[in-house]
Amino acid sequence: MEDITIGEFEFALINEFFTELERQGPGSPEETIRALSFISNLSSKAKIADLGCGTGAQTMVLAQNTEATITALDLYAGSIDRLNITAEKLGLQNRIKGIVGSMDNLPFQNDEFDLIWSEGAIANIGFEKGLNHWKKFLKKDGYVVITYESWFTDERPAEIEKWWVAAVPEIGTIAHNISIMQKTGYIPVSTFTLPECCWIDNYFIPQKARQEEFLKKHAGDKTVEDMIVFMRREAALYSKYKQYYGYVFYIGKKL
Ligand code: SAM
Repeated sequence: MEDITIGEFEFALINEFFTELERQGPGSPEETIRALSFISNLSSKAKIADLGCGTGAQTMVLAQNTEATITALDLYAGSIDRLNITAEKLGLQNRIKGIVGSMDNLPFQNDEFDLIWSEGAIANIGFEKGLNHWKKFLKKDGYVVITYESWFTDERPAEIEKWWVAAVPEIGTIAHNISIMQKTGYIPVSTFTLPECCWIDNYFIPQKARQEEFLKKHAGDKTVEDMIVFMRREAALYSKYKQYYGYVFYIGKKL
């Protein structure tokens, strides 16, 4: 404990909270399958990397809807343990391997993957930085599929602008993000927004009971109390300002 910094402690705490939930970010199996429908040529020899996979909600969907082999990577070991247990329970352990690692220093070979997938995670290292770093691990004509926080309008109220710029400093409009995709060496193939149910039913509602449980477990812990206040504000802001922002799927093909 002694050499843990506040930042690391918070990362562990956030992950302790979320690993009990099915998803760690907005999304749904239906939208993962919709994004997958844009990808061609995935044979049983195909290799997929799922970066910032969390406990693997989307990893299982990818495995169940392709014949590919998947390497799922996350910085948090507790999530990877859970992912590997789930893969085993579903009989997918021969095609899914969860590993601990960082998205900005991938332990892969050049030209190794047909597809790099990442839902709700690239903001941790930056959209442009991630796209640049990941490209060399894709085969020629390989695909990248990412969900990323994006503005839906060119202007928005100051309250929500401030919140998101603090959380994701480089947050931009869909047009801006497509231009970054192009600049970093991908042909933009498609974009679509995640529907509200991905946020409300699959992300905010499941958090409610977990928040109560977590407050009880960590009674008197100010950091935990602050974290729950932050999460509740995130949900309230979404209800108020959801016409201005959301997660967007970006699908690109390596040039
Ligand atoms: N993809 C999952 C989902 O949609 O349910 C998880 C999304 S969660 C919002 C973001 C994930 O990114 C967390 O599991 C977190 O541990 C992981 N993460 C944060 N920084 C990372 C890094 N540098 N490398 C790999 N994973 C990272």
